[in-house]
Amino acid sequence: MTNPRGPVPVSNHKITDQHNRIFDYLRIAVNERCNLRCLYCMPEAGLDFISREDQLQKDEILRVVRVVSELGVNKIRYTGGEPLLRPDISDIIADTISVPRIRSVHLTTNGLLLESKARELKNAGLQGVNISLDTLDAARFFQITRREGVEKVIGSIRHAVKLGFESVKINMVVMRGFNDDELTRFVDFTHDENVTVRFIELMPFDAHQIWKTGHFMGAELMLEKLHALFPHLERITGTSTEEHIFRRPGFRGKFAVIPAYTRSLCATCSRIRLTADGFIRNCLYANDEYHLLPLLRDSASDKEIGDFIKTAMWQKPVDGWTAQKQADNGKRGSMTMIGG
Ligand code: SAM
Ligand code: SF4
Repeated sequence: MTNPRGPVPVSNHKITDQHNRIFDYLRIAVNERCNLRCLYCMPEAGLDFISREDQLQKDEILRVVRVVSELGVNKIRYTGGEPLLRPDISDIIADTISVPRIRSVHLTTNGLLLESKARELKNAGLQGVNISLDTLDAARFFQITRREGVEKVIGSIRHAVKLGFESVKINMVVMRGFNDDELTRFVDFTHDENVTVRFIELMPFDAHQIWKTGHFMGAELMLEKLHALFPHLERITGTSTEEHIFRRPGFRGKFAVIPAYTRSLCATCSRIRLTADGFIRNCLYANDEYHLLPLLRDSASDKEIGDFIKTAMWQKPVDGWTAQKQADNGKRGSMTMIGG
């Protein structure tokens, strides 16, 4: 654990850093547990997950949301682990959306349980879902996730579109020699479905190092392949993480390339991360973490909690490369502990 130190943040009303960035987006991991075992995320046997007592409780999550909403945060994403394994997730979402100044609440899920819970989540006020799906092929799905379920996930995606969520996105981690031959199939999926497929670079967060096995494919190469497959691609605008976003003429959905490893979008980063065990992480690639949970459990005031978060974010490294250089040997060996 690192204690926030150093200069006092300049703004009293916003969460900012020394590089003129303003943070208005909080991503909260609500658990570490998962019903899949994606090979780039965690070992087959799982991990030494934190106990339920040590993970953020619902009232603690909502307290943080309320405090940061007073400091300019207006967008919340719930992730994990698998957030839909948390029985109180719909209540958390409903209470989050009722916080004044919170304008949007989104969720990232592996989609296995989404079809059965989608209606309840929508009624709770959830606006958008990102569903992770790396292949449309059943055998490959099993290879990647070590579990069955591709049809369930595809069913969840179609169901979410039908229910009318404002945004439905598919997160596909592209791996060379593994699923990079499916770019066309995923783009074809956007013909009838109003979804955004996000082709994401593999990142070095995995306890058993698939990262080192040569499956990485960079954003530049993905773009080259996409341009070769689809000449005359129409470029459109997306969110701040979607640097390269396209729509094929006549298609309902879009697709994007996300430079998650290349880190070309750090200058406009607006994200704060809160891990399931209550640490503030000011950069995905930084290992310095700031343990907020004790404050939440030790009757700290809202001001103390806000100041703690502001000071942690003030120290955010200029970019993810600098953060990685400063980091020690990877305290967290899996994205399931960070939330992606
Ligand atoms: N279980 C949920 C899911 O899979 O959507 C939410 C948590 S998961 C950690 C969030 C996102 O991180 C997923 O889209 C997943 O594909 C991505 N992810 C996990 N490990 C990754 C890695 N090593 N490189 C790139 N993306 C990764
Ligand atoms: Fe679970 Fe998501 Fe990690 Fe896959 S990427 S093992 S679904 S937490």
